[in-house]
Amino acid sequence: MAATTPPAAVPASGESPLLGEHPPTALMQGVFTALVAVDFLVRSLVRGLEAMGPYPLVALGMAALALVLSVAVPWDRLPLLALAVLPVIDIAVVGISRLGTLGAGAGVLVLLPAYWLGRTLGRRGVWITLVAGLATVSVPGLLVLESTGDNISRALLIPLVGTFGAWAAQAIGGTLAQLRRERAVAEADRDRLAGALEFIEHQGRVSDAIIDTVDVGLLLLDADGNYQSMNRRHRNFMRVAFPDGHRGRVGQLGLVFDENGDRRLTSEEMPTTRAVKGEEFDDVRIWVGDDPLTWRAMSVSARAVRDEDGTFRGAALAYNDVTDYMRALRVKDEFVASVSHELRTPLTSIRGYVDLLMEEDDLSPAARQKLEVVARNSERLGRLVADLLQTAQIDGGPLRVVRTRGDLAAIVRETVAAAGPVATTSGVELVSEVPPSLEMLLDRDRMRQVADNLLSNALKYTPRGGRVRVALGVDGERAELSVEDTGMGIDSHDRDHLFTRFYRARHAEEQSIQGVGLGLSIAKSIVESHGGRIEVDSEVGRGSLFRVRLPLGVTAI
Ligand code: ADP
Repeated sequence: MAATTPPAAVPASGESPLLGEHPPTALMQGVFTALVAVDFLVRSLVRGLEAMGPYPLVALGMAALALVLSVAVPWDRLPLLALAVLPVIDIAVVGISRLGTLGAGAGVLVLLPAYWLGRTLGRRGVWITLVAGLATVSVPGLLVLESTGDNISRALLIPLVGTFGAWAAQAIGGTLAQLRRERAVAEADRDRLAGALEFIEHQGRVSDAIIDTVDVGLLLLDADGNYQSMNRRHRNFMRVAFPDGHRGRVGQLGLVFDENGDRRLTSEEMPTTRAVKGEEFDDVRIWVGDDPLTWRAMSVSARAVRDEDGTFRGAALAYNDVTDYMRALRVKDEFVASVSHELRTPLTSIRGYVDLLMEEDDLSPAARQKLEVVARNSERLGRLVADLLQTAQIDGGPLRVVRTRGDLAAIVRETVAAAGPVATTSGVELVSEVPPSLEMLLDRDRMRQVADNLLSNALKYTPRGGRVRVALGVDGERAELSVEDTGMGIDSHDRDHLFTRFYRARHAEEQSIQGVGLGLSIAKSIVESHGGRIEVDSEVGRGSLFRVRLPLGVTAI
């Protein structure tokens, strides 16, 4: 941005309003001396030198001397007040020259030094003019010249007219100085404004360059849904999503598909439409384009733009290209599905043979103990493979549940009973509040899996000396199962991802607690397939509360 300097300080008008700007000394004196010479010449020609007497000649000599002084003295190095010497001599020249021709000298010439004094010294110049006029024009005039009315009146009027002239000159000088000051301020303001404008334009170009360089598509919408601006990256996305062009308003349908890439988004579902309604979101996944070579997966975030009083002014959207990530996810899911499928057959055979061996009567106690370890671990491996398979199944579409009439209370009681020994060995108090029965429509095995997962997590993530409480009840048309613990808790960042496959909270990882991060995502799918919801409330270090709400659905039978 161009640097601007403040306007130079200008002296106050009463003092010396035109300091540094006063009339050029030699020029003023030159003009005055020339006029005196002309006056002298004209009068001497008309009247003759003798008739004029010596005074005009003396006056002319003084004027010439003043001219010499005006050129020879370095006035700009002397204080400003010293400059008064020349105009004062000039006033005296007027006074003296008048004496020679019976008072008929060119008194009007007094206006020149008066103007000079007024412009140069301001108010001081006015006073000097008055005093010098009275001393060198009035006093000699009254003393030397005949006391006629004309002479007396002129002797008094000339200094007064001169004083008025000096006053007018200083007033003009003051006004001019004021004007100059205002102009200087205006020019400085204009320079500052131009500098600021240049700075803003420069900043604009810098941010455009930055915005164009980032790897994320950026889009700005106004409150009515008009596209206001976008960066280069987003323009490229737009070409893929709207190959026939876009009219610059939200709601236009294009090659924009859902997260799985197989259903076209409706106008209402488009991230831009949602953002213009003031909705804020993160990681909304979409696919754009229909050509496998060019289509892209996007993770979209939106934030509302509001002014200070909170009025909605538009929305900003960021489009992150996650194509590679989505492709990798797909490959991983396919891999998980096939590996777990392949693992299942040998595992079934291992478990079968271990069961057969355990039935042998002549097994030594040591061998039986070792076989039990094999059985326990193959059991664990079996659960893991089942979880993996189920996850792969969930990805393939909605989970299939077969709901029949059943007693959720009985299922929960069995789960609590099965967990009893684990609670005892881990030193965690396990309490439950379960009604005698709670009939509803459910898939028994799947719901057992949910209760089992929540309870085993609660025991797993609660240290020795803690407490786990399982409660089942009915709230209106819904069954409510809650599992509460006094364990390590989950921080807010982890809480947002708990139900994501393979996600494990930092605490669990740090404390090397076993797990793969599948249980909760499976539990969520099961609960949702029952038309229910699962939610968590937790505080780090104080414990967690998992709550499952399920529609009873009994009346529908
Ligand atoms: P896993 O327990 O096998 O890791 P889950 O899907 O059941 O997988 O749980 C996901 C993550 O949620 C766990 O890794 C753990 O960090 C956290 N979590 C689940 N339940 C609790 C709980 N009761 N207390 C603290 N953290 C929990």
